Amino acid sequence: MPQSARKTPDTELSQFRVKGEIPVPILINWLTAVAVPLLCFFAWRSSLQNDPITPPLLVGFAVLLAVNSVSYLLFGNKTLQRRGFITLITVLFTYLAINAVEDGSAIIWLFAYPPIIFYISESRVGVLACCGGFAAVIFLFSPLGDFLFDPPHSTSFRITMIAVLGFEMVTCYILDQSRRRSKLGLLKLAAEFEYAAKHDALTGLANRREALEQLDIEYQRYLRNARPFSVLLMDIDLFKSVNDNYGHHVGDELIILVARTLREQCRKVDTLARWGGEEYLVLLPETNTGEALASANRIREAFAARSVSTEKGPIQATISVGVASIRGSESIDRLLQRSDEALYRAKSEGRNRACGYENEAAA
Ligand code: GH3
Ligand code: MG
Ligand code: MG
Repeated sequence: MPQSARKTPDTELSQFRVKGEIPVPILINWLTAVAVPLLCFFAWRSSLQNDPITPPLLVGFAVLLAVNSVSYLLFGNKTLQRRGFITLITVLFTYLAINAVEDGSAIIWLFAYPPIIFYISESRVGVLACCGGFAAVIFLFSPLGDFLFDPPHSTSFRITMIAVLGFEMVTCYILDQSRRRSKLGLLKLAAEFEYAAKHDALTGLANRREALEQLDIEYQRYLRNARPFSVLLMDIDLFKSVNDNYGHHVGDELIILVARTLREQCRKVDTLARWGGEEYLVLLPETNTGEALASANRIREAFAARSVSTEKGPIQATISVGVASIRGSESIDRLLQRSDEALYRAKSEGRNRACGYENEAAA
């Protein structure tokens, strides 16, 4: 949600729902449920006035609205349901306005149009529909409209109708803009919270929680299709002395440099995480121990070749890597424990190396 919500304020906004917001298809179904008996009621009233056309037409609209909602419930096509509803109410309101239904008072139904149209469609569509409707009412009340449709409304009614309708449309537009901006703000906030909850602030890598989440997803995949995956547990060598000799900010630079190296050396499908202070975990999906060891050494060599500039000149550092691949029905905890043991071995064998668990060859 959130990433694309950042990009397009309006067109994609409707894809995301904030808690408590009524989904458009549900609103349309509710409006249809209210509109169908109302249409039948007014069809009955028109039939009492011996109007041969209006009653079947209103019942026809009721049937079409009901069919529109039922087909959404059956097939779940939201776009079709929304377009069908907009088309039907636009045609219906036009008919009510130009045919002087209920002695011409049915034109008041036009006031229901702007809030509905702004809520269920994009802002642009709402503006276009309202401008079209407004122009149509002005046309209806113009001398040419008088000539063509002979509306029964007095001049003062026409002036008030046009003024209030215009006022309502502008108000709906302002409220709708405010609603959309609030929604966008909420979605952005949610995206920022989600990002902060999953990422490490210093490096931008996944944090430990997110790494565990990805490990679990990969583990479930492994249980289903037995495709092995590997983890690399990395630790910057003698990092404490960097902090002590050059200061914490240089230590931070090194931590960031490892993250940059990981981004450059790893695949898009790999999960790169800051596991702890100067420790990292890389999750390599569909990778066996041999391939994982090769990746570990590639990363290790790439990092060793880089340097961080300090007041005392450039400094270089190395990393040690523990490699373990999932096997049998072992748990994630056991896998991590084995990678930790492999890392311990890499440290004890002299650092700046990658070691597999137990009998795996060292670099
Ligand atoms: P080894 O090769 O055995 O890993 O030695 P080391 O000095 O790297 O290991 P040790 O665990 O003793 O040192 C880790 C240090 O990392 C201690 C801690 O002060 C430092 N550290 C942890 N998090 C951060 C951080 O975010 N920034 C900086 N600058 N230092 C950190
Ligand atoms: Mg450490
Ligand atoms: Mg260390």
